[in-house]
Amino acid sequence: MPKMRAVQVSRAGGPLEMVERDIPEPGPGFVRIKVQACGVCHSDTVTKDGLFPGIQYPRVPGHEVIGVIDAVGSNVPRWKLGQRVGVGWNGGYCGYCDNCRRGDFFACQTSTEVTGLSRDGGYAEYMLAPISALALMPAELSSTDAAPLLCAGVTTFNCLRNSGAGPGDLVAVVGIGGLGHLALQFAAKMGCKTVAIARGIDEEPLAKQLGAHYYIDNKTQDPAAELQKLGGAKVILATVTSADAMKAVLGGLGVRGKLMVIGAVPSLEVNTIQLLLLDQSVSGWYSGTSIDSQDTLNFSVLAGVRSMNEAFPLERAAEAYDHMLSGKARFRVVLDIGK
Ligand SMILES: [Zn+2]
Ligand SMILES: [Zn+2]
Repeated sequence: MPKMRAVQVSRAGGPLEMVERDIPEPGPGFVRIKVQACGVCHSDTVTKDGLFPGIQYPRVPGHEVIGVIDAVGSNVPRWKLGQRVGVGWNGGYCGYCDNCRRGDFFACQTSTEVTGLSRDGGYAEYMLAPISALALMPAELSSTDAAPLLCAGVTTFNCLRNSGAGPGDLVAVVGIGGLGHLALQFAAKMGCKTVAIARGIDEEPLAKQLGAHYYIDNKTQDPAAELQKLGGAKVILATVTSADAMKAVLGGLGVRGKLMVIGAVPSLEVNTIQLLLLDQSVSGWYSGTSIDSQDTLNFSVLAGVRSMNEAFPLERAAEAYDHMLSGKARFRVVLDIGK
């Protein structure tokens, strides 16, 4: 039996350990991917720390995967050996449940598969994926550069393009981290009047370089008042995990403005009087399915959006993961796995 290297977690809260495993064989509707790169995302803590009920261990994390199809199971139309593909958080959907029949594939009721959580992910030399989870990679992007677009990228791109904000509308991005540095680029390239909000003045030059037209330092300025001076935001994209930072910007929404939350906090206090007087809303956003990932990749090529990454080899996955957790990575961490 041919073997591969994989980095797995063998119990909730256990370490990331490099092991040798059999190379898996794809069943019906699945392909096998020879992994080239996999992003290390904060959501990998869900797998590592057992934050989701019913995780089966050992489990290989990783849901920002790019590689080449090197084996194809039965019942696989369209996809072929040698195609380079990406796989994100959404690990596939059934296509026949009521939510899928309404086009809400992200909310599939029968196959709630999550890459690297309910099925082994990309911290390995090979992985399996169902065809509903595959995004076709454009040739212009390298695998290492593009891996974070499969989670951080698709989440911010898909959120913004479904937010209702269009060219010329005021869009604010709270936080300049892994998500925020991509959100700023996407918002600016979509033609929005783009505002970066972060703590301190140090981030201002980078924010402007990423496309922000305005910068608000929420340490010394009141972000809500500053946004109102600019006319009030159509959309505020909160990428941070601080309820206080979200609460501080809410007053910056304009008429029919929307706070879109993609950073998870346990609770958020909202002034509902303001919401109902100005027809404002607070909403969450899921990431996206495989076609959303594919659209994200293609838009990134078209518009020159790039993730800023730090790369590590697979054998240093534990170190890469700790670096991601430290919050010091500029901005995404990627495992460089093979050619
Ligand atoms: Zn992720
Ligand atoms: Zn379904």
